[in-house]
Amino acid sequence: MTTTATINTVPATAAREISRRRTFAIISHPDAGKTTLTEKLLLYGGAIGLAGSVTSKKEEQSTSSDWMAMEKERGISVSSTVLQFEYKDRCVNLLDTPGHHDFSEDTYRVLSAVDAAVMVIDAGKGVEPQTLKLFDVCRQRGVPIFVFVNKMDRPSRAPLELIDELEEVLKLAPAPVNWPLGDGPRFRGVYDRSKDEVHLFERTTGGAFKAPLEVAGIEDDKVREALSDDLYEAVTSEVEMLDGLTEPLDIERVLAGEQMPIYFGSAMNNFGVENMLESFLEMAPEPAGRVSDEKMVAPETNNFSGFVFKIQANMNPRHRDRAVFVRIVSGIFERDMQVIDQRTGKKVRLSNAQKLFGQDRETLDTAYAGDILALVGNYNFLIGDTLTSDPKVVYNEMPRFTPECFTYIVNNDTANIKRYRAGMEQLMKEGVAQAYNVHGSMRAVPLLGAVGPLQFEVLQARLISEYQVETRLEHSPWSVVQWFEENVPDTMRRDSDPPEVKLPSGCSVARDQDGNWVVLLSSQYMVSVLHDRNDHLTFR
Ligand code: GDP
Repeated sequence: MTTTATINTVPATAAREISRRRTFAIISHPDAGKTTLTEKLLLYGGAIGLAGSVTSKKEEQSTSSDWMAMEKERGISVSSTVLQFEYKDRCVNLLDTPGHHDFSEDTYRVLSAVDAAVMVIDAGKGVEPQTLKLFDVCRQRGVPIFVFVNKMDRPSRAPLELIDELEEVLKLAPAPVNWPLGDGPRFRGVYDRSKDEVHLFERTTGGAFKAPLEVAGIEDDKVREALSDDLYEAVTSEVEMLDGLTEPLDIERVLAGEQMPIYFGSAMNNFGVENMLESFLEMAPEPAGRVSDEKMVAPETNNFSGFVFKIQANMNPRHRDRAVFVRIVSGIFERDMQVIDQRTGKKVRLSNAQKLFGQDRETLDTAYAGDILALVGNYNFLIGDTLTSDPKVVYNEMPRFTPECFTYIVNNDTANIKRYRAGMEQLMKEGVAQAYNVHGSMRAVPLLGAVGPLQFEVLQARLISEYQVETRLEHSPWSVVQWFEENVPDTMRRDSDPPEVKLPSGCSVARDQDGNWVVLLSSQYMVSVLHDRNDHLTFR
């Protein structure tokens, strides 16, 4: 990272605040234990006294909208929340990511705002499809990954087999920081390889309180007593083998995305959670800068800058408000400060940033690079916007996703047309789906595209709960979209007419919400037909 001249950097106290921040997300295949682990981390972070009594997600589920009811019913998480807590000398920002694969766009965006990720794996299942998808995003973004192998209290796959699989599938060198002592009913704790310490745990009912924990060396009598003879044998020989099979943990390699620290435990029973948190916070990187115009903007740069990675409306049904989530890239946020929104060029006063915790809110006066701002109110920002006090800085952090499902969402009652339009406009701004105008179509509503069909159900559910508008889905024949440009000089481009395209049957020309031309196709096969017929076009 380039260093900036002293005159352009924040004061030393603020630099210290920045360097003690750790901003990360927990990712997992649905059901692996992300929510449970989040809950337990908050317990250790002192944010809650009793794990299980409060998590942002569960709290909201029991108190708010139908949308949350749907989430509950399906057992998936639709929303993502930002939580901040102190642990020892660190200030931790934990971003919750939605778990279902249909919400990957939202998840991708959240991952653009973090500096590290903890990936939860179910010990009985190993790497699952969603694990892989999420992992790819982290790899693309250069986000270091820490693995928590969860549910060791249930019969698990052999730990050696699990790390083998992680290595083979994720193509990262595994570095088991601890090693499990047994699994299922015989799970007795973990062995910390770096410290040569055995952590023996006692089960507590439902894991409701911090688990009592005993520490001893692997040769200690207590350890021999706690483990049956054959288990003791198995563990000691596995631990010996590990030294030959895996390379030593190397922080540099972890941060470079070449090696993954692996922890074993059981989130539900508090087994191994605190060890993981502590070790993770020792290794996790400080807030990273972001690139603007090919230059790295360092977090300690004096000028404030950040980008919008998530927008969520109507978080509180009684207030009808909208929260815009901003990752601060550089400098210090101060209440009422004025920034430029680089998309519109307008100056905006940031007067209402809030700390959110479930349904509780608190006004935020100061925040630092690495933190997440939740701006609540009528801000006219869009996902991807750069907010900055330096007119030269523009971030381009938000990837565009290619939809794979297309549908029409039609208003059932014309009397509701105003509310329908307002709702659709808002939800498009939040990036819930993408809108397309099909050329020559007689329909009054735009075609909607999303990565997965569940996204449309979320849209419908939110139109009902937040705008009291009933809608129905109407089928569309398309499943693939291709962006293209004519191979002609810019001066010859006619923006109003569609370029000439030799369309295969069943395909149509349309415009995306930014006005770019696209072709909609019925299958992947048609893509090659389209390309073969249109040498005069460049497809993106
Ligand atoms: P998420 O979908 O990844 O957020 O998963 P949850 O945290 O909601 O957990 C899914 C299910 O697994 C829930 O029923 C949890 O109680 C259960 N679970 C989570 N951690 C553990 C664990 O360590 N051991 C066992 N046996 N069950 C667990």
